[in-house]
Formats: sequence, C-alpha cells, structure tokens
Amino acid sequence: MLCESFSQHETGPHCLLEPPSRKTRHGVEHLHMTIAQSLTDSSAEARRRLVGGTAPMLLHPRPHPPTHWRQAKLIVTRGCWARCEFCHFSRFVPLSQGKAVPPVLGIPDAVAELQRAPAFDGVKVVTGLSFQAPLEYFTHLIQALREATGQPVQAFSAVEVDHLARRLASSAREILTEWKRQRLDRLGPGGAELLVPSVRPSLARYRISVERWLEIHRVAHSLGLRTAAGLMFDARTTAAQIIEHLNRLREVCEGLDHIELQPLESAQTALTPIRPPRLDQLLRVAAATKTLWPDLPLHIHLRSIASADAEILLADAGVDRIIETVLEVQP
Ligand code: SF4
Repeated sequence: MLCESFSQHETGPHCLLEPPSRKTRHGVEHLHMTIAQSLTDSSAEARRRLVGGTAPMLLHPRPHPPTHWRQAKLIVTRGCWARCEFCHFSRFVPLSQGKAVPPVLGIPDAVAELQRAPAFDGVKVVTGLSFQAPLEYFTHLIQALREATGQPVQAFSAVEVDHLARRLASSAREILTEWKRQRLDRLGPGGAELLVPSVRPSLARYRISVERWLEIHRVAHSLGLRTAAGLMFDARTTAAQIIEHLNRLREVCEGLDHIELQPLESAQTALTPIRPPRLDQLLRVAAATKTLWPDLPLHIHLRSIASADAEILLADAGVDRIIETVLEVQP
C-alpha cells in the first residue's frame, strides 16, 4: 500500500500541518524543517551541513546513482492557448523551418520516428490544449504507440483531459474509459505543478483548479488507470507551499505510479529571470518527499545538474530515476 507508511504520520486530513502525537510531531517538524532549510539556507551553509554529515537529507543511503529513464517524447500539436508562465509550449507556432506545420503530428510519422529511435524505456505524449485534434486522433495514437513499441505510454494530463471533455461536451470518465480500453498506461503529472490555489493564478492563470485536478485523478484511479504527479519548484518556492502541495497529493497517493520533481529551469519563458533551485534544495525536497512515500518511485527532471557526484547525492536523498529525453518529435 503506497499510503501505508504515510499513514504513520497521519491522524487527520491535515496531518503534515497538524501532527497528532509527540511521535509523529517529531517526524512532521523534521519534515517541515527539512523543506524549510532547503529554501532558506545559503548554499554554503547547506553544503557545510551536508559534508559535515549532520544534514537530515541522507535518509535513504544507497550505494548506486539513480537509473536514467530514457523517454521518447512526442509533442503532437504545436502550441497551447493556456499560456502558463513556465511553459515554452504556450504559444502557437505556425511555421517550422519556413514550412507550415500540420495541426497534429501524423500517427504514421510518430510510429516511424519511434522505430528509428535509440533505445528508450517509455513514451511520453504531450498534447497541450488544442481545438483541432478530434478524440479519435488521440485514441488511435495510443493504440498505435502501444502496438508499435510495446513500451508503457504516459499521455495526457488532467488539464488536457478536462479541456477535451469540455470541448466535446463529454466527461472525463467517458474519455478515460476509452483510453483505458486502448491500453493507455498512465496519465502524466501536468497541472499538478503546485497544488496551491494562492500561487496558481500567477503561474498558470487558465489552469483547472486544484479540486478539479484531484477529481480527474480520482476518476482515473477508479477506472484502474495509474497516474503520475509532479512538484514544480524554484528558488522562490516556500516551505509552506511545498508542504501544502504534498499534503494535497496525499488525497490521491494510492493510485500514483510515481512522483516527478520538476525543478524550474526554463530558459524560454516569462519566468526566465527566476533562479532554479540549488542542488541542496533539490536534495532536501527529494528527501522530504521520499520520507512521506518511501515506496513510491521518485523521478527528477534534470537539465543543468548532471555530475556523477550530484547523482549519488540525489540517490541518497531518495531519487530513483533521472528522466532523460532521448528523442523529441514534433509535427
Ligand atoms: S496547459 Fe500545459 S501545455 Fe498548455 S501552456 Fe500550460 S503547461 Fe504548457
């Protein structure tokens, strides 16, 4: 049971914030402190504690670095109207290398690219919020990818499911039922970047609400579909926000396949001046998340930190996999 160990901390709906007993209070305060330190300490101070061996992050010592999970990423449309501040996909791109792009990636083209690709461990499909692609396109896409690769397919997010349901005057349940029939493996984490209502408008003003994100994940779980959750943060993210986010994820943790840490380091968005989190921050957030869910695989998206030493530290903090994109295909 994924939530079992978590429930050791729990006696009420807000267990992280309102620990019920001395025993669990210690764990919760420790967690809170761990995250708070990650976001407030100077890196020199954090490194001193890390090297000195007194930092609370080395909770899950492992002798080996995390594995690299090689994903083939299919971006099947060329833009999204939602204009989330952190997303370079939030614009429409009508031309590519001077040629008009088709509204969606052709399914035979997608399959051919995957068959030519270097080895990969799974397929991730990014759709954005499109008004052009019909439901059948997505259904056939899942079917074709599963048949052609035999690899797990992670596709769509709660945001995309909600958009499609409203566009087609359908329901999330109907859409997910059909995709489950086509052997979709799991929904992606999109839309869960920070489940904190007070900051969502400034990051992603047209996103679905926290409640709707949770509702769609519950529907998926009730149909037997697994889902992934994310945690996006940068150097400004507060401990309270991270705790609130993790606390909301508890509501759906039974059906989660894994959690993806998404340190914000986009170079192409309106948030460009924002500093990405430091390595010590990554380590502490990873350790805190793994402490809550020791059995739930913890993945991380990394672009700028890739040294062997950093990978060992990430493994010590509980990171199981580093997500590496080995192929990216667009229309
Ligand atoms: S909804 Fe998704 S694809 Fe669209 S702008 Fe936001 S993050 Fe990007």
